[in-house]
Amino acid sequence: PDALVLAGVTRSYSQGKTRLEVLRGVDLVVSPGEIVGLVGPSGAGKSTLLHVAGLLERPDEGSVYVGGSDTTGLDDGRRTALRRSAIGFVYQFHHLLPEFTALENVVLPQLIAGLDKTEAKRRAAELLAFLGLGERAMHRPGELSGGEQQRVAIARAVANAPRILLADEPTGNLDPDTAEHVFAMLLKLAHGTGLAALIATHNLDFAARMDRRVTLREGRIVEL
Ligand code: ADP
Ligand code: ADP
Repeated sequence: PDALVLAGVTRSYSQGKTRLEVLRGVDLVVSPGEIVGLVGPSGAGKSTLLHVAGLLERPDEGSVYVGGSDTTGLDDGRRTALRRSAIGFVYQFHHLLPEFTALENVVLPQLIAGLDKTEAKRRAAELLAFLGLGERAMHRPGELSGGEQQRVAIARAVANAPRILLADEPTGNLDPDTAEHVFAMLLKLAHGTGLAALIATHNLDFAARMDRRVTLREGRIVEL
């Protein structure tokens, strides 16, 4: 089945007395192994789309399918469980827990998902090594560079082997050289795991290196 499907998704927000229709009928399919770039100007609705796709917000209308299953009828508890097991998020800012080491930050979501601690540590160490952070595993976020922090955040996002990876400007807070390094790692990881990735970016060079590009135009998805 397709990893992620949005069908006829609408989402509006109240803005004073009017409603701002951000998503007006979004149709989007992301297949396993596919990396899709989501581009478009600020305020177009990219974050809103990622939140709806990631089961953080419900659409007003339309459906979100994860791994072929319609999530519309799921209660909040089931949506949360599905989000934790099937979807990984990377944000512009790393949101790592400052008191924990890089390794612990990657272990934690696995423990929450019920994985055995030894296995969780093994997987965390393997992921960090894959992302070039083998020597940094025992450091806390405050001791890491911005690029290293963001690579830890990427490792954390895929710790539970999600079928979907959603990223909102994952390199938006980094200088160009660091952004290039982190983006290259993210691409390598996504290609290596076969997950479906939807990555919002302002960087058109990065978008050009993804499998496919879409943009939000007047609340709908347009292929580029
Ligand atoms: P609605 O009642 O339309 O579903 P929400 O409950 O999502 O809206 O948000 C409540 C209020 O929070 C909004 O009306 C808005 O004033 C404010 N808000 C929250 N996040 C944002 C944002 N990213 N941009 C602008 N306003 C926001
Ligand atoms: P992008 O990620 O493309 O910059 P967003 O999805 O963050 O776009 O925002 C799209 C529009 O929706 C913006 O005008 C923003 O202010 C508005 N918006 C986003 N979230 C909320 C909210 N919770 N309440 C009210 N308005 C919101």
